[in-house]
Amino acid sequence: MKHGWVGGLVTTATVTHATPAGFLAQSDKRDDEEGIATQYLERAIQVYLGGGYRFFDPALRSDKKDLLSGFREKGYAVLRSRDELLSQKSDKPLFGTFSESHIPYTVDHLNDPALLRSIPTLAEMTTAALTRLEHTGQGFLLQVEGAKIDHAAHVNDAPGLVRDQIAFDDAIGVALRFQAEHPDTLVVVTTDHGNSNPGLFGQGDGYGDSDKLFSKVGRMSRSYSAISGDWYADMTIGELTSLIHDGTGIELSASEAGLVLDAIRSHGPNPYTYQNAAIPTLASILANHTAVSWGGTSHTGDYVTLTAQGPGASSLPSLLINTDLNAFYRKCMARA
Ligand SMILES: [Zn+2]
Repeated sequence: MKHGWVGGLVTTATVTHATPAGFLAQSDKRDDEEGIATQYLERAIQVYLGGGYRFFDPALRSDKKDLLSGFREKGYAVLRSRDELLSQKSDKPLFGTFSESHIPYTVDHLNDPALLRSIPTLAEMTTAALTRLEHTGQGFLLQVEGAKIDHAAHVNDAPGLVRDQIAFDDAIGVALRFQAEHPDTLVVVTTDHGNSNPGLFGQGDGYGDSDKLFSKVGRMSRSYSAISGDWYADMTIGELTSLIHDGTGIELSASEAGLVLDAIRSHGPNPYTYQNAAIPTLASILANHTAVSWGGTSHTGDYVTLTAQGPGASSLPSLLINTDLNAFYRKCMARA
């Protein structure tokens, strides 16, 4: 990092996951999150906020190394809960991990009072990061990742995806308000790839039902992934129907629920190999009720959003190969 600049990483994945680690660590293996965690203690940037305390906690690490004490000794506020984050002053660098692995989906977070108390939102983590970074009085690079959007898309989880997109949008709002007060800040919003191509499809006469069907996603109280944590191969069609109804508000017919049950028992009916799993099968069936359907369960080659506000934004080309973004960041930092 440019001399005199400080840094921060905020994510809803494990803080050692690929996207944050790509900004700070060097490793042959993206899955070596314990090794990446050790590098984080050595790099000692100003802010680490996200999930993944199992890679730092001596009781959970395979080598029993106590990285949490290491951060404390370096003067960090070591945080484990939303309350601790919100009451934290800006006088210390921040190390906060709020779940053992990835942070739960926003839709599950919003509907669980215990999770609401224990885990901050992405916008709250972004606010805390900016407050600390501003306090240092130095130039800074902060990366904020709405990681669960990708996770939701991989399993075709519509309520997971939509609520985490909104949570990411809230975090963009925090960044843009900071930018308005600090016009020398450049905010870039982008992603590294598309995923699974969700779409709102025309349904009903003259496609007139789509909006009404899509609004059902907004009323769902659980991610499909959380629902899948409670289903099992031996359950009856009736038990499965009520489990899905409790989480989504949608009553499947016996034949629809039977297809999901087949997929849970590993005889998935989906002819596209990549969607031949239980949650994407549930998503395919729920597409009849929500008008939200998907193209697959993997990353895609689509053009993606790239937008910016602040100094340098006007020099950002409208089309850019993703790896060239690194050169753009370097140019902006050199000018700052
Ligand atoms: Zn992915």
